Amino acid sequence: MQKLYCFFLLLLFFPFHTITAQQPQKPNAVEIYAQIQKLNFLGSVLYIAAHPDDENTRLISYLSNEKKARTGYLSLTRGDGGQNLVGPELRELLGVIRTQELIEARKIDGGEQFFSRANDFGYSKNPDETLAIWNKDEVLSDVVYIIRKFQPDVIINRFDARSPGTTHGHHTSSAMLSLEAFEKSNNPAFYPDQLNLTQLWQAKRIFFNTSWWFFGSKEKFEKADKSGLLNLKTGIYYQSLGKSNQEIAALSRSRHQSQGFGNTGVRGEDDEFLELLKGEMPKDKTNIFEGIDTSWNRVKGGKPIGELLANVEKNFDFKNPSASIPELLNVYCLLETLNENHWKPLKLEEIRKIIASCSGLYLEAVANIQETTHGNTLKIKIEAINRSAISMQLTSLKTYPETNSTFPVYDLKNNSSQSIDAELNIPQSIGYTQPYWLTEKGTVGMYRVDDQKNIGIPDIIRQVKVIFNVTIAGTTIPFERNIVYKYNDDVKGEVYKPLDIVPEITTSITDKVVIFNNDKTKTVGVTIKSGKDAVKGDLQLELPENWKINPKSIPFSLSKKGEEQTVYFQITPPKNATEITAKSIVLMDGQRFDKEQFNINYDHISKQQVLKPSEAKFIKLDIKIGNERIAYIMGAGDEVPKSLRQMGYEVTILKPEEITKQRISDFNVIITGIRAYNTVQALAFKQDILFDFVKEGHTMIVQYNTMDEFVTPNIAPFPLKISRDRVTDENARVDFLQPDHAVLNYPNKITSKDFEGWKQEQGLYYPNEWDKAFTPILSSADKGESAKKGALLIAKYGKGNYVYTGISFFRELPEGVSGAFRLMANIISLK
Ligand SMILES: [Zn+2]
Repeated sequence: MQKLYCFFLLLLFFPFHTITAQQPQKPNAVEIYAQIQKLNFLGSVLYIAAHPDDENTRLISYLSNEKKARTGYLSLTRGDGGQNLVGPELRELLGVIRTQELIEARKIDGGEQFFSRANDFGYSKNPDETLAIWNKDEVLSDVVYIIRKFQPDVIINRFDARSPGTTHGHHTSSAMLSLEAFEKSNNPAFYPDQLNLTQLWQAKRIFFNTSWWFFGSKEKFEKADKSGLLNLKTGIYYQSLGKSNQEIAALSRSRHQSQGFGNTGVRGEDDEFLELLKGEMPKDKTNIFEGIDTSWNRVKGGKPIGELLANVEKNFDFKNPSASIPELLNVYCLLETLNENHWKPLKLEEIRKIIASCSGLYLEAVANIQETTHGNTLKIKIEAINRSAISMQLTSLKTYPETNSTFPVYDLKNNSSQSIDAELNIPQSIGYTQPYWLTEKGTVGMYRVDDQKNIGIPDIIRQVKVIFNVTIAGTTIPFERNIVYKYNDDVKGEVYKPLDIVPEITTSITDKVVIFNNDKTKTVGVTIKSGKDAVKGDLQLELPENWKINPKSIPFSLSKKGEEQTVYFQITPPKNATEITAKSIVLMDGQRFDKEQFNINYDHISKQQVLKPSEAKFIKLDIKIGNERIAYIMGAGDEVPKSLRQMGYEVTILKPEEITKQRISDFNVIITGIRAYNTVQALAFKQDILFDFVKEGHTMIVQYNTMDEFVTPNIAPFPLKISRDRVTDENARVDFLQPDHAVLNYPNKITSKDFEGWKQEQGLYYPNEWDKAFTPILSSADKGESAKKGALLIAKYGKGNYVYTGISFFRELPEGVSGAFRLMANIISLK
């Protein structure tokens, strides 16, 4: 065997290749073989859309698994704006969940994940609205940067830039920005500062991934002339994997659990169609890479690498992958001698993984705890084992942060495990574990990321790691592993979690919005949690001077790490209506701790820690309320009852089976939760009882329902037709159609000021046709659209009032929007 010696080069941290701290991948021979084929392919595709779930996993899987291309998905946003089907997290915490779901999806379909700084702020009807809220220049800069960094040969847009208004404004914007970036990424006049970190790049062609959806129906798409389109036959059956391409794509798509996108795979022929937008159309309409050299010849000095790898493929022994190691080591050394170029670090990282897999080389560093604090001594257990006949030594170990422990050279004999103990101190210079895009406060439309190097990186950037320098048959190769935590769960078995650096103390104000509806003092609880043993300090709530607080400061001491204690402050609001942010602060040993810790634990994603400023909104309302007793019938789930209680109402949650004539006679008002008539089957049989309740002189308030199936055709006592009408601009002017109506005057005088400071939207799924018994109260419109008058409809029925409203109370009340409280109080007070 020819021995090649190459020297350990300073290990580069590739920002686009972060290793996640979960179950380590343990590829089998078939998977290793596929990785070798990929190592010998130098072509790439970047797929671009707006949200987690926009991506076409069938196409991503096809490009990655069939074409062996480096395939990226750039989702401009992290999907914060949606609803969460697996738990209570919303907004940026939901974005953290969706980020992880995309990372997990890519592990299945073989793609790589990227994001821009754009925030999914909620629905927008067209790109004008989107780009007025995103910082267009910053998002474009990010798309250009990721293109320059990823260097795709081909770019594919999910959406059509030419049809604004036909889909979500984020979608059309993603296509527009992608087209613009296709040109600008190769122009040094644009974003020249990026060129310190990357280089100009011109993708060869850009496509739009059309489908029947864009044609209105499958039938229309079937009939359409597709002769001008690139046609990829994606219904591949991967014999060696035992799965069809669509089955892999379905497994990937099913990772989107927070969106409820479980997907069943199919088998058989399948087509994807791509419309050329710019660049040169391939003559062969099935060859996306036509005219692009996707071999090692595209790299200077790469030809012999391609030849060697062709041999490795040809000689690969599925019963003994380690037989490929001598040739792979030759490739590794050749790779190291190449001049620096785009592919070198990517391919070095790939081949390191392949060599480890072929030799059964297993390397792991496990901490004794999942959470650690600065200054703590972390004990780690290192495992290194070679499971091949190839001669190997663990020549040196390097840890970040550095350890004082010293290590000899360990001989890694076949199937003989080395267990090594080490200790390291966590310095302040390594920040708390935190999604880097949430460290600084952003705007409604943008995350703030100050370090250009981090743009595009999907995941938390972890800094506590071990580099194993392993000498394999004379060649020393560095292998990097994040330090992880693992334990055995009696039900789940082996569970991996990332190592998190946490503050010594975190606090949490129990209610994130506290409503003061009169001058009375309220009790506010704050929970203190210790990140280490034996902490002692003082807790304070920071409030403006005109708010009274008692006591001013609460001393505490907690003896055990993880221990929690809740303490209480008496808060008295000022006379006038106002809204403030209360901050919870701990002073300990002269240091100030002001963070709240959120732990996100789900089985389908890696455990996530998010740290946010520990604060809550305190709102003194100028509001009058009646003494109505309210029954609330939950729909799909909302926090309106909690807000109503904060306003001072007595609220009872009524189960559908409790809706009886006798039971509801205890109440003055019945409110149905959001989408109740889409989700609560039993309501179909309760309408008579509810309408009689109204007839007898009470009020029933029905909040929004979507156009999905209704549990009953008669949701109101009079005809009413729900539509897609909505007002998404929360700042749109609201006109009063009936200025003298009681609902705008009693007990609170509603003015245009009450529609200021609303969040995300005004309302959705407004009725667009209604019986003349209904009186429309409000009118408003999104830019360029006709006025929508269905936001709040009131009908007299018998002696009572039936109210239908698409106003987003479910969003505005938990956010503490005072005008929404005042309007709701008036609806409840209708006589
Ligand atoms: Zn979308």
